[in-house]
Amino acid sequence: MGVERKRWSEAFSEWYNEVIETAGIQDKRYPVKGMNIWLPYGLRIMRNIERIIHSEMERTGHNEVLFPALVPETEFQKEAEHIVGFEDEVYWVTHAGRDPLDVKLVLRPTSETAMYSMFSLWIRSHADLPFKVYQIVNVYRYETKHTRPLIRVREISRFFEAHTAHDSFEDAEKQIKEDLEIFDNVAKALALPYIVSKRPEWDKFPGAYYSVGAEVMMPDGRTLQIGTMHNYRQNFAKAYDIQYETEDGEHEYVHQTTFGMSERLLAATIGIHGDDRGMVLPPEVAPIQVVIVPIPKKDASVDVFAYAEDIADELRKAGFRVHVDERDIRPGRKFYDWELKGVPLRVEVGPRDVAGRKAVLARRDTLEKFEVGRDELVDAVRKTLDDVQKSLFERASQLLSSHIKRVETVEEAKEVFEDRRGIVEIPWCGSEECGLRMEEELDAKMLGTPYPEEKAREGTEGKKCPICGREAKFIARFARTY
Ligand SMILES: [Zn+2]
Repeated sequence: MGVERKRWSEAFSEWYNEVIETAGIQDKRYPVKGMNIWLPYGLRIMRNIERIIHSEMERTGHNEVLFPALVPETEFQKEAEHIVGFEDEVYWVTHAGRDPLDVKLVLRPTSETAMYSMFSLWIRSHADLPFKVYQIVNVYRYETKHTRPLIRVREISRFFEAHTAHDSFEDAEKQIKEDLEIFDNVAKALALPYIVSKRPEWDKFPGAYYSVGAEVMMPDGRTLQIGTMHNYRQNFAKAYDIQYETEDGEHEYVHQTTFGMSERLLAATIGIHGDDRGMVLPPEVAPIQVVIVPIPKKDASVDVFAYAEDIADELRKAGFRVHVDERDIRPGRKFYDWELKGVPLRVEVGPRDVAGRKAVLARRDTLEKFEVGRDELVDAVRKTLDDVQKSLFERASQLLSSHIKRVETVEEAKEVFEDRRGIVEIPWCGSEECGLRMEEELDAKMLGTPYPEEKAREGTEGKKCPICGREAKFIARFARTY
């Protein structure tokens, strides 16, 4: 019996919506569209992801803060591009009880406008810089497109946002590099390969000098953005008057950056590693890494439950997250449940295993089963979980690389989107006009140019922009996106 991925790849959208519910991630029956309920198992996975984020923030000297969810209209309107970018998708609080408010309040769609008037009070001198804070909170955006759990929602309930201020553009640039390194560590824990692109001018974050986004490849050939980094230069500092005193006693505006992630990290993890039986969780974030299933037989004289508990104790002492399934239901039913929930490793113990001092291990990713002696069990579990983590990354890397196609003409690009979709890389002159034309002809979005910037020109030599025929300056990436 091999790994079936037919439904997962051919009817991914249905597969995804179903698994979100049946595996206990979220319930989407809450009576506000696009606002879903976290179920215990889903929340446990998300908390494990957040633990990695918190530890990365600590490692890199970011301090955690918590800002209010409401922002006065007067603050919200200070940065001109930002307000234009968000005005169609914010929720307003206009009344308190029956009385209209003097100053309306915005339910934050992101927290720049909540934070930066406070930054102007907190940041006084060069000694306060770099200033690095973050929070994980809920933000609200009135999405008009079709909503989808964890991916496109009106309440992003686990929105991570890091905000930094620096004394120079160069120092802010260093921050973007650090963000990419943090992102890489998070993605590795989730076994997610990704690409990074610098967004085109017309698609950067409202108010940013430039934006960089990280995308993963979902099984249906569409990309999902799971991380963004923005360099604001001094745009917000000028709007919110965030100045510091230099060593020479001058007053200068700070340079700012932000870095964002969300529960889309979980959506990518569920989507990319799954198969027809359900989720396959990377061991690093699985709430249960090993499930032990005792298989009692009638009339057997040995106690499989005691044997299972003994194994569980030893594994817990070795640092693993272990659960013993002692429910009084058939083993087949238990296997089904834990496979759906994506537990990376199952240990089966029956009377013969007790007698022979052994156990059967079953990997969730490959569905392979093998016998291990009781004394070698801890080592075998450790090795197998490491292996699952690595194999998931490799399998996902193949999914990503097999979906990236470099082409030279619009016709070739169209063929990619007609067939298996994916990411098209095509020479581009760099003009907005040609970029938008390609978006229209391909009915796809320009993700941007490969990042870091030295990669953006690789392979453009002697190539022409297929729209205008001028010399290509960049490689541009296009994809159908979530
Ligand atoms: Zn062109």
